[in-house]
Amino acid sequence: MNDSKVEMTSRIYDCIVVGAGPGGLQAAIHLARFNRGVMIFDRGGGSTRSAIHLENYLGLLSTSGQDLIDTGIMQAKKFGVRVERKVITRVVSNDDSFDVCTKDMNFKARFVIVSSGAEEKLPSIKNLNNFFGRSFFTCVSCDGYRCVGKKVLVAGDSIVAARVALAMKQMYTEDVSLVMAGVSLPDDYVAALAKEKIEVVDGVVEELIGDKTMGGARLQNGRIIACELLMSSFGYKLNDDFLSELPLERDITGFEILTNSVNESSLTGLYVLGGLQQQENRQAIIAAGQGAVAAIDINRRILES
Ligand SMILES: Cc1cc2nc3c(=O)[nH]c(=O)nc-3n(C[C@H](O)[C@H](O)[C@H](O)COP(=O)(O)OP(=O)(O)OC[C@H]3O[C@@H](n4cnc5c(N)ncnc54)[C@H](O)[C@@H]3O)c2cc1C
Repeated sequence: MNDSKVEMTSRIYDCIVVGAGPGGLQAAIHLARFNRGVMIFDRGGGSTRSAIHLENYLGLLSTSGQDLIDTGIMQAKKFGVRVERKVITRVVSNDDSFDVCTKDMNFKARFVIVSSGAEEKLPSIKNLNNFFGRSFFTCVSCDGYRCVGKKVLVAGDSIVAARVALAMKQMYTEDVSLVMAGVSLPDDYVAALAKEKIEVVDGVVEELIGDKTMGGARLQNGRIIACELLMSSFGYKLNDDFLSELPLERDITGFEILTNSVNESSLTGLYVLGGLQQQENRQAIIAAGQGAVAAIDINRRILES
C-alpha cells in the first residue's frame, strides 16, 4: 500500500473472516473454540439481515435474519472472536499469509474466509420498499412457501424468471403470471408456460399498488396486473470488489467463485462461503455448514503445520 496513513498491526491472526453472515460466523465460532485467533470484519447490512422470516433453519421455529446474525455475533464474541464494523477494501496474498486491508489499516492472517455474500439486483419500482420481504420476494427457496394459494406475479429480465414462474406454479400456486420486457424465450419454454396457463406479459413493472397489502402491479404502459405477491428475478451482484487483485478461478461465465469440497478457492488458504458460491445454494443453513467445514479444514492444516 502506498498510502502513508496506512497502519500495519503486528499480530498475525490464524484467520480473518470477511462478512458476518451465517457462514462467516459459524466458521469463526468453530475456530475460536479450537482456540485459534480469529477476527471478523463486517460492514453491516447483508442479505441475511434483510430476511424478515427465516423458517427453514433447523432448530429455529421462526426467526428473523437480524436475530440470527445478532445471536451469532454474541456467540462468536463469547468464545473470544474480535468483531469489527469495518469495510474491507483489499485482500493481498503473500507467500504464507494474507494482508486484509481497510481504508486505513492492514491486518495479517494465515487464512482468510470470505463470506461477504451476494445482493439481489432490485428493479426500480415505486413502492417496493413497502413490500420488500413481506410480499415482494427474491428467492423461491426462501419465500416460495409464503405464496401458497396466492395470486403471484413473477417479474424478471431473463429465462431464469420463466423457470421461477414454472417452479412457483408446480410447487405453490395455480395463479401465476410472468412479466418481462423484451425477453425472447426458447420455444420449449413458451410451450411449457402456455401448458401451465401462465400468462406472459411483455412489460416493465413501474409501481406496486397498495399500502400494507399488495393489490397489484402497474406496468409502464398503464396496465394493472392484480397480484398479492411479487417474486423478483433480476439476478445477483457479488460483494467481491475487494478480491479483484486475486487470481481466483470462477465459473464458465467468470461470475461465481469456484471452491473445492472444503470451500477453499483456487488460491491456497483463501476460503469462500455462502452467496459468493453457487446461486442455487444461497441459504443460511448451507452457508453455516460451509463455514463449519472450512473452519475444521483450517484447524487441521494448522495442526499439521
Ligand atoms: C429477503 C431475503 C430473505 C431470505 N430468506 C431466507 C430464508 O428464509 N432462508 C434462508 O436460508 N436464506 C434466506 N435468505 C438468503 C440468506 O440470507 C443468504 O443467502 C445466506 O444466509 C447466505 O448469506 P451470506 O453469508 O453469503 O451473505 P450475507 O448474509 O449477505 O452476509 C454477508 C456479510 O458480509 C458483509 N460484507 C460484504 N462486503 C463486505 C466488505 N467489503 N467488508 C466487510 N464486510 C462486508 C455484509 O455486511 C454482510 O453482513 C434470504 C435472503 C433475502 C435477501
